[in-house]
Amino acid sequence: PHLNQHPWRDKDEFAEVVQSLNQLGKRIIKEEKLRGHMIADIAHELRTPLTILRSQLETLVLEGKAVSIQQLIPLVDETIHMQRLIHDLQELSLAEANQISLKRSWFGFQAWLEEIVDILKTQAIEKEIKVEIEGRILNEVYWDSSRMKQVLINLLGNAIKYTEHGGKVKVAVCQAQGIVKIQVIDNGPGIPPEKLPYIFQRFYRVEGSRNRSLGGAGLGLAIAKEFVEAHKGSIGVESECGEGTTFTIELPVFPDE
Ligand code: ADP
Repeated sequence: PHLNQHPWRDKDEFAEVVQSLNQLGKRIIKEEKLRGHMIADIAHELRTPLTILRSQLETLVLEGKAVSIQQLIPLVDETIHMQRLIHDLQELSLAEANQISLKRSWFGFQAWLEEIVDILKTQAIEKEIKVEIEGRILNEVYWDSSRMKQVLINLLGNAIKYTEHGGKVKVAVCQAQGIVKIQVIDNGPGIPPEKLPYIFQRFYRVEGSRNRSLGGAGLGLAIAKEFVEAHKGSIGVESECGEGTTFTIELPVFPDE
């Protein structure tokens, strides 16, 4: 509007403008705070493996003796951990900026699912956890198979990780009206109701009695949510303490481009 022409006609309109500017200001401050937290979280997550790596490498160098494979294995593990973290962060930031380009193709659902469950079997066997598939989807789906595989690995990996020795994990699948429903059900410790609203936030981990060494950086569920939503799907969770947790994904067989 021209300078000597009031853009608002009365006080109410003026108050409205002030209020929305106020809200905008608050939102910017909040987003800046979040960004600050995120950088602090990333620094924190990278610091621990780097410290371990550096001190162990320095010890090896100082000792000056021949290094055995056994001494090198934990160092390789730490670098793998850092690489995974950086990869996850990259994927997450692309997805959050809606810049992820899905590589979609038609593939058979059931064989794909069985392959994923097989990948996690070794982890499950170590804890004597039974993983079973319930239901069959016989047709093909048009998804980014590696991104959706990552989603299932994250959910199944958590189910196995957080469920006690000898527990049970089930993947239940069904399809109706062009929507595939996948549920990952465990009979593990469950998630307290007051923590449930936060578990899809990046870097969020339910602390407390759980061992810090169990989980990753708290990115798995944030990534799962972003990838599912990129496929025009939804993800939800139901949990009861002491009973178990169920994650439910609903995804169209053929998401619109
Ligand atoms: P993390 O790397 O810590 O596993 P996630 O984003 O995958 O991060 O999960 C966030 C948090 O949600 C976990 O730290 C854990 O506390 C909780 N959680 C996720 N899945 C389960 C589950 N199946 N049973 C109990 N707690 C779970």
